Amino acid sequence: MSDIKTRLSSVRSRIRQAEEKYQRPAGAVSLLAVSKTWPAEAVLTAMDAGQHRFGENYIQEAVEKITTIAQYPERNAVEWHFIGAIQSNKTKEIARHFQWVHSLDRLKIARRLNDQRPASLPPLNVCLQVNISAERTKSGATINATVELARQVAQLPRLTLRGLMAIPAPSHEFNEQRAIFHQVNALQQQLNAEGLNLDTLSMGMSGDLEAAIAEGATVVRVGSAIFGPRHRATTSD
Ligand SMILES: *Cc1c(COP(=O)(O)O)cnc(C)c1O
Repeated sequence: MSDIKTRLSSVRSRIRQAEEKYQRPAGAVSLLAVSKTWPAEAVLTAMDAGQHRFGENYIQEAVEKITTIAQYPERNAVEWHFIGAIQSNKTKEIARHFQWVHSLDRLKIARRLNDQRPASLPPLNVCLQVNISAERTKSGATINATVELARQVAQLPRLTLRGLMAIPAPSHEFNEQRAIFHQVNALQQQLNAEGLNLDTLSMGMSGDLEAAIAEGATVVRVGSAIFGPRHRATTSD
């Protein structure tokens, strides 16, 4: 568990160095720790080391963890982000337990989250997942579909449209990574030029966070570089 603290601090310094190198303001990039497949104890260890934002992919696993963490006094500082594929029978749980969703890519899901967001909670922050190229998952809307979806989601009162998310196909070539992130940033600027007010670019993971920061990421989603290699194959729910 002390490894988590060491790795967390090295990820933080990677972020700081990239901010400096690519002339981003200090603190412009926030770190979302992706705790999928890891137990609540791992989350608590990261919390001890000052980490407050956590990303989860699988709703059942996430709700158990969120419920456990809610018993600790520090719980109010914790922010939960849903970053996995969304099936329509899972929207109710997502709307109740999370502050953010990064992986919205269909209007039907947006409407369900909007309708199911409890009145006692503030609007749910959402990012639209855009699929720029042949990506590793089938999730994400095309560029054209994202433009249309953004206009519609912006009308939903119980959602706050915050920005875009992308998961490029893995590449070891820095300039290839940058080129994809550059297109996500350009799409965000295009939407803002239309009058939307997007402030979040969720892009960059353990292997490509520097390229994402170079292209304007405001949130990097980092799992294995913090928690270690995932100890079971990722599954759907
Ligand atoms: C698992 C996951 C991450 C973290 O990936 P690492 O390579 O372990 O940093 C980031 N984003 C999404 C959507 C994920 O599913």
